[in-house]
Amino acid sequence: MSLSYTGRFAPSPTGPMHLGSVVAALASWLDARAHGLLHGNHRQQWLVRIEDTDRHRCQPGADHEILRQLQALGLQPDAPPLWQSHRHAAYQQALDALRAQGMAYACQCSRKEIEAVWQARGATRSRFTTLPYPGTCRDRADVEPVRAWRFRTDRLPSGATAGVLHWQDRRLGPQQQDVAQEVGDFALWRGDGMWSYQLACVTDDAAQGVTHIVRGADLLDNTARQIRLQQALGHARPQYLHIPLALDALGEKLSKSNGAASIDVGQPAQVLQQAASVLGLSPVVSPGQAMPPSQALAQWVQQWAGQRFFAAQS
Ligand code: GLU
Repeated sequence: MSLSYTGRFAPSPTGPMHLGSVVAALASWLDARAHGLLHGNHRQQWLVRIEDTDRHRCQPGADHEILRQLQALGLQPDAPPLWQSHRHAAYQQALDALRAQGMAYACQCSRKEIEAVWQARGATRSRFTTLPYPGTCRDRADVEPVRAWRFRTDRLPSGATAGVLHWQDRRLGPQQQDVAQEVGDFALWRGDGMWSYQLACVTDDAAQGVTHIVRGADLLDNTARQIRLQQALGHARPQYLHIPLALDALGEKLSKSNGAASIDVGQPAQVLQQAASVLGLSPVVSPGQAMPPSQALAQWVQQWAGQRFFAAQS
C-alpha cells in the first residue's frame, strides 16, 4: 500500500532546540504516528528538513545538535534529513518556471527607494515595514543591479481564483488572505544569494511529497503566500495544522532571539512532558519518574488520535 501521510519538521538551525521547537517537532511527529495508528504505520512517514538558507541566522553545528536532540527525545525521522543549503538547483528551477510564466520579475529597488515611494504616497515611516512592495519594478525592462526576484501577486496562477485566498486550518478553521493587498510581491531570492523561506519551503514540501504540514501558529501568516506559489508551480496543496506556541512567563513566544534556553536532553521524558502540555495533552510522566521517551510517546500518540483537530483532516 502506498503512503497516505508524509509529515515533516523543518527547523532553522539558528541554535539548539528550545521548548518552542520541541513543541513543533513533537506535534508533527505525533500527527504522523497517529495517522499510522489508524491507517497502518507503513502508510505514514515523518521527515526532518534543515532550513539553512539564511546564512546570517544559522549557527555552525546547530543542525547536528538539533538532530542529536531529536534522537535523544525518541523522535527519529524515517529518512535521512534534507539540507536546504544543498538544494540550490531545485530552487533555481522553480524560479525559472515562475519566470517562464511571467509570475516572477527582477527588482532593483533598495530599501531606501521602496521607502521613498511610500513616503511620496503619504505613508508614515512607522508603517514602512508592514507595507507591501509597491510593485515599482514589475514592468521594468533592464533591471540593474538585481537586488531580488519577486513573485507577482497581481497575476493569478492559472486555475486560481482572484482576490482573497481561502484555506482551511485543521485547528483554527477557515482562513483567508488577499496576498496582493496584504503582503504584495514577496521576494523569492535576494541579491545576497539567499533563497527565500517561501520558495525553498514550497519547493521542498513538494519534492518530499509532504501531505500534512504541522507547525507553530507564528507561521500561519506565510500559508497564503505558500499556497499561491504551490498554485503557480503546479504543486498539490497539503493540509495545514498550526499549533499553539510555547510562551514564556511574560506571555511572549519562546524563541532564540528572546533568549529561550536550550532543552536538557538528559531528561527526555520531562522535556517531552512540557511540550505535550503546551499541546493540551495530559501528563503521562510524573515528576522525577524516569520513563523511556518511547513509552510516553506511545501514550501521547493515542491521545493525539482522539483530538478534535486530528479528526478534522480530510
Ligand atoms: N524553518 C521554519 C522555522 O523554524 C519552519 C518552517 C515550516 O515549518 O514551514 O520557523
